[in-house]
Amino acid sequence: MSEVSVTKNAEGSTPAGDQLVVLDNVNKHFGALHVLQDIDLTINRGEVVVVIGPSGSGKSTLCRTINRLETIDSGSITIDGKPLPQEGRELARLRADVGMVFQSFNLFAHKTVLENVMLGQTKVRKTDKAAAEQKARALLDRVGVGTQADKYPAQLSGGQQQRVAIARALAMDPKVMLFDEPTSALDPEMINEVLDVMQQLARDGMTMVVVTHEMGFARSAANRVVFMADGRIIEEAEPNQFFNNPRSDRAKDFLSKIL
Ligand code: ADP
Ligand code: MG
Repeated sequence: MSEVSVTKNAEGSTPAGDQLVVLDNVNKHFGALHVLQDIDLTINRGEVVVVIGPSGSGKSTLCRTINRLETIDSGSITIDGKPLPQEGRELARLRADVGMVFQSFNLFAHKTVLENVMLGQTKVRKTDKAAAEQKARALLDRVGVGTQADKYPAQLSGGQQQRVAIARALAMDPKVMLFDEPTSALDPEMINEVLDVMQQLARDGMTMVVVTHEMGFARSAANRVVFMADGRIIEEAEPNQFFNNPRSDRAKDFLSKIL
């Protein structure tokens, strides 16, 4: 676990009234399965929200609805005051505003590391090639893989690939970054190198939603922990409160199994 201590800000919390992502009474079904039930969730600018809960509770689906990889049946989602676009160029722009990092790194295998980080910039943001390359190299340096720029993803370790995936998402200047179990597919010795990059991002003020089982990260980086079970948000609290004094039996039971 990372030992780096994190300073959120002087008050230990984010400024109030600056809502970036708002889910209002969101419901979603997969057939008969009510996978998201009456989800109300507000993420403020600069806030780091860690989502935890048992497997199958709807954490990935929640993330995927926020950048519209999944549609919702009812309720609303707004990003920076605007409802999620349905399709076309607006949707592509939304996906650029909402960076997503998956468990499986999802890099383009037939493109170099550098090309992976340039592609969205030139295609979606219409950045010219020289500027895109300069930015890509700076971001690759920032996540500690600057010397790997000309390699192909398969030539990198899992931890390096995941850091490239983070750099690729950051290249779009996202308003919010979603991480869905970003370290779950990694060998143990590579977990910290990815968590350290995420810690740094949090310190730099990035708005982040992080689904993870890394409770050390949740304790040190999160402003808030959201606990889900059976498609519902059961409990939301500051990390200390949540880990030391969970209110619900479901959370107590979950924590007793993982801590
Ligand atoms: P978590 O990420 O918390 O493990 P998921 O959001 O992946 O949970 O899944 C929640 C539930 O929805 C699970 O029961 C899962 O099997 C189901 N599910 C997820 N995606 C689909 C899908 N595309 N079609 C049908 N069921 C799905
Ligand atoms: Mg999941």
